[in-house]
Amino acid sequence: MASRRASYDSPTVGFVSLGCPKALVDSEQILSRLQAEGYRIVPSYDAAELVVINTCGFIDSAIEESLDAIGEALEQNGRVIVTGCLGARAEQVWEAYPELLAVTGPHAYTEVMDAVHRHLPAPHDPFTSLLPSQGIKLTPRHYAYLKIAEGCNHRCTFCIIPQLRGDLVSYPIGEVMRQAETLVQAGVRELLVISQDTSAYGVDAKYRTGFWKCRPLKTHLTALAGALGELGVWIRLHYVYPYPHVDELIPLMAEGKILPYLDVPLQHASPRLLKAMKRPANSGDTLERIRRWREICPDLALRSTFIVGFPGETEADFEQLLVFLEEAQLDRVGCFTYSPVEGATANQLPNPVPEEVRQERMERLMELQADISATRLRRKIGQTVEVLVDAIEDGQVIARSSADAPEIDGLVYIADDEELVVGEFAQVKVIETDEHDLYAVRVT
Ligand code: SF4
Repeated sequence: MASRRASYDSPTVGFVSLGCPKALVDSEQILSRLQAEGYRIVPSYDAAELVVINTCGFIDSAIEESLDAIGEALEQNGRVIVTGCLGARAEQVWEAYPELLAVTGPHAYTEVMDAVHRHLPAPHDPFTSLLPSQGIKLTPRHYAYLKIAEGCNHRCTFCIIPQLRGDLVSYPIGEVMRQAETLVQAGVRELLVISQDTSAYGVDAKYRTGFWKCRPLKTHLTALAGALGELGVWIRLHYVYPYPHVDELIPLMAEGKILPYLDVPLQHASPRLLKAMKRPANSGDTLERIRRWREICPDLALRSTFIVGFPGETEADFEQLLVFLEEAQLDRVGCFTYSPVEGATANQLPNPVPEEVRQERMERLMELQADISATRLRRKIGQTVEVLVDAIEDGQVIARSSADAPEIDGLVYIADDEELVVGEFAQVKVIETDEHDLYAVRVT
């Protein structure tokens, strides 16, 4: 077989894709991974060192076609891995062709890649060959971002992400769960779920049912959050637009399955401006939703971001935003002044707001929010909260509570204590607060 690699260094794989569009998507996933790892896909049995066949098992004629294709590949090449729907009937396949290298079911990308690695090792790449199984992580060992989708179906006028990354493509739920498990096994204690529009997870896949540990799971945020909640680590949700089904997440938070934390980028409170921004899920009464969420889960920490000085924003619009903030009493708020991004349609909107007015509005907003935040944090004095220790520096322990996402929210400062370990959870009692942070002592 090695002679087949005469003119190239990359190991070569032949690929036969049979069946419906869903199987085709599986094939694309496997092919992407093979190529990303440096395998070369070749168009003939002769040139391939190994052949992967993605089969169909839907109707009898499809089964027959798949079995024929396997037989042909074995005859022409000899080294064959079978995946796909027919692979779900592994016994039947093994019985017909005991000489196969491996047989896996549909959506089993990881198993297919494992089988390929076993029988045809990936090429040595100095940039990737020393990677741990969970891949490259740029975060500390104890927390990790879990990306569940790429792209976005919306067209907010200030944003060019859809132009850069395309429409929403949700990652298969079984894959997301396996990635999450791998991270947890590698020592991660907190998973931060991200995508451009986390609430929309699964829309593109029509909420297709996937599998995790032989269990059917819908490609839907509620199912994903519930399954992630079984992993025994903190699960934090980011970029959750307030679509109606977001209400289903709140009981999971109240039950302690996922963190009582929602990062909902609202961007504004003036309906006129939200329309000009073309924001998703901006209908309905957000204040009423928030009130109901807090009724079900009183510990819920709400984070949001806002843009001030969007073209056409009047003083009245801005004041509407301040009133909203007073009423919503959000826990964490980020604020940006509008800045035109090359290629964004908002650049063509009339009535740009002068730079000094944008700055002044941001300062006013942050001042108000600092007061709200300080008042809300003060209520925590005397409470015992669970924290995750991020660092110990010069006798100071730096941790975060469920209300604090890394990098963007506040911190919990704890007097040094030998029992506290970076990357581990601890119970602490809050003794002091300021505008953004908590000060606490370990509870023994
Ligand atoms: S701001 Fe978010 S929701 Fe809007 S288009 Fe950009 S990525 Fe999509």
